[in-house]
Amino acid sequence: MNFKVLTAISVLSLLAFTGHVVLPSAAAENIEKDLPTMCVALDGAYKKRKWGQDPCDAIEWVTGGKSVKGRPLIYAEFGARESDNVTLIFAMVHGDEITPLYTGFQMTQWAKKNMSKYPKAKLVVAPLVNPDGFLDFPKTRMNANGVDCNRNFATADWEKRALKEWKTKLHSAPRRFPGHKPESEPETKFQKMLVEKFKPQKIVSIHSPLNMTDYDGPDHLKLNQFSSEYVKRCEELRSKVKAKSSGFFPGSLGNYTGQELGIPTITLELPTAEYQYADKYWQMFKKGLETVVSYEVPPKDKKAEKGPGQ
Ligand SMILES: [Zn+2]
Repeated sequence: MNFKVLTAISVLSLLAFTGHVVLPSAAAENIEKDLPTMCVALDGAYKKRKWGQDPCDAIEWVTGGKSVKGRPLIYAEFGARESDNVTLIFAMVHGDEITPLYTGFQMTQWAKKNMSKYPKAKLVVAPLVNPDGFLDFPKTRMNANGVDCNRNFATADWEKRALKEWKTKLHSAPRRFPGHKPESEPETKFQKMLVEKFKPQKIVSIHSPLNMTDYDGPDHLKLNQFSSEYVKRCEELRSKVKAKSSGFFPGSLGNYTGQELGIPTITLELPTAEYQYADKYWQMFKKGLETVVSYEVPPKDKKAEKGPGQ
């Protein structure tokens, strides 16, 4: 290496260090740090896949946090503001699953037109929980810190099992990394914030491509904790959407909201992640999603079942 090249590198490093120039690796990143810019990027992603209308269009979005890289974490509310019959829908917790993005945004457009059919129901949709995973190149299942945000909830078994089982059972697979600490990630905190703020009666999280509907919620083991009517109705909801139970993981949403909080939690795994089929899946599952939104789960508290004064 000659002296001129070395000098140029030294000057560039010094300027970068003092903040006067941005090195090429950082300059290459073009982050959509506000909602309008992110919506332009999403519209571009829709156009590229011939998915039709601008997904953000005419929806009142609320920003409930920022991703690791500073992108807005968005949600929208529909229906009866004061209702107890709240459904919370998440999509794209895993950024490379593609088809749930379309289902999530379609659900908001559906809700805008159709929630008046259910005057006692309320719906909250967060269609892009992991914007960094979707909008960065290459797309990743994990967030920008390399954490699987469906293994990062602070469930009771996290400290004991999450990292240990990731290292042993999962052979430290990067795609399943639960984080160094529970609830360390902004995308996990965002989901938890929505659960605490809206106190949903039921939750749906949309993924792909496992082609199944999984259920976590109060079962016969929880009868002591919840009213029998509540458990019965949760099971009825489960059978209406043909969901199966297939266990849960430390730090997963189903473990946190289904097992620990007793909120029926349905994980809808669309059949594939191939964008060409996104509308076909939407047509397949919109009726089921409408069933969940309109379904009323009674109070889970035993005292509430008996009524006041008893
Ligand atoms: Zn997933």
